[in-house]
Amino acid sequence: AAKAQGRNRSCFFTPSMQLAAQARVRLGKDLRQALAEQQFEVYYQPVLALDGGHISGAEALLRWQHPERGWISPAEFIPLAEDSGLIVALGDWVCQQVCQQLQHWRQLRPQLRISVNVSPIQFFADDGRLQHWPALLARHGLPGDSLVLEITERLLLDNREQVSTQLAALRAFGIRVSLDDFGTGYSSLSYLKKFAIDYLKIDQSFVRHLEADDSDRALCEAIIVMAHRLGMCVVAEGIEQPAHLQWLQAAGCDFGQGYLFAAAIPAAQFEQLLLAEDTMPRHG
Ligand code: C2E
Ligand code: MG
Ligand code: MG
Ligand code: MG
Repeated sequence: AAKAQGRNRSCFFTPSMQLAAQARVRLGKDLRQALAEQQFEVYYQPVLALDGGHISGAEALLRWQHPERGWISPAEFIPLAEDSGLIVALGDWVCQQVCQQLQHWRQLRPQLRISVNVSPIQFFADDGRLQHWPALLARHGLPGDSLVLEITERLLLDNREQVSTQLAALRAFGIRVSLDDFGTGYSSLSYLKKFAIDYLKIDQSFVRHLEADDSDRALCEAIIVMAHRLGMCVVAEGIEQPAHLQWLQAAGCDFGQGYLFAAAIPAAQFEQLLLAEDTMPRHG
């Protein structure tokens, strides 16, 4: 019986789990080096206005080129950066990169707007780091409304007072707020009333099967109607097929991004898209 119990107990921490844990610790150490050694790069995924079909902005997405392992997905390293607190410095660095690009790109496209993903940790950092972002924009001669912060529902769960005060201060400067992955977290619709939010982002899991799934269509339709009634705009992510695009356009969705248009690409490549668009006749 003792043997069986021992065997059972060992099931809670198997050799493969131990290896995975060691790999995570290793990667967390590498992450600290990575910022100093400039292994990160910000990629940009075009965001299109669905009525006219032109590029209205981009989402900044972080990329890490690990010296041995090659490209590592942010889905893997962002949680590690959150655990170690490194996300605060990393997030500041992303905002700096975005400001430099915006300064340049706004000369080509004065209305261009870039979204930056922010982790809850960045809101709760001791020195209120996010509150320095308006000054950072100002130093680059940028208006507040050139930047959008993408937050997730998990930020709105705790410390509601602190979060809503901070969001209000950022919005007073003109910075916009977008609720990412909408509908996939621990949603309570009441926060849509409490927090000032400018955009709802329909998660790609609701977009992926739009052509085949009645309930996904019903959910997307309801999200669009609700957002508009509350005075918010809607962004659909993960648009991969022409049928998704057509359906979302007909349903009145305002903005979209996805592999149908472009994946996240290096800054130089995004700039090529902007320039190419300027030489084409405008529709809509
Ligand atoms: P997210 O903010 O929801 O970003 C959307 C993800 O979907 C991105 O993955 C993007 O490359 C991917 N995507 C875009 N279009 C399509 C499509 O048509 N089909 C499919 N299947 N996927 C598409 P990525 O770049 O791997 O980023 C994953 C997550 O990592 C992001 O999800 C975001 O939560 C986080 N992340 C990325 N960069 C940052 C950052 O600078 N700071 C923070 N805090 N989080 C970040
Ligand atoms: Mg996002
Ligand atoms: Mg998202
Ligand atoms: Mg997502």
